[in-house]
Amino acid sequence: MQCKFVPSVCSYCGTGCGVLFEVIDGQIVSTLPMKTHPVNQGKLCIKGWNLHEHVNSVLRLKQPLVKTFGRFIKAGWDEAIGVAADRFRAIIDEHGPDSVGVLVSAKVTNEENYLAQKFARAVLGTNNVDHCARL
Ligand code: SF4
Repeated sequence: MQCKFVPSVCSYCGTGCGVLFEVIDGQIVSTLPMKTHPVNQGKLCIKGWNLHEHVNSVLRLKQPLVKTFGRFIKAGWDEAIGVAADRFRAIIDEHGPDSVGVLVSAKVTNEENYLAQKFARAVLGTNNVDHCARL
């Protein structure tokens, strides 16, 4: 059995508590508070203690879904990205860039959230970006 502790920052809110992911044989099994972190000093709220749980959840989506005639159908990445690009283009052409927006998530990395807001602003041309951690 291989065990290691990987430092990170809780992504569930803007406080930015320091955490340690306990990783056993390549799987994240728990989240611990970082005692030396200046923000949380060894404490976490209930969301932080459960930060790792979605990673291995059986409910986690692992491939794109495309809504077709009111039902979500599994699709490949190329197809899903093509559908999204076509729909963004059509809506923006008809109603302008502020008619669309991007919602991001605390369950992806800070770097992925950064890329999503960059995509909204630089590619779609809108500042309509929001995130559940802003609540
Ligand atoms: S959700 Fe809780 S543990 Fe996570 S950063 Fe915010 S206060 Fe800290």
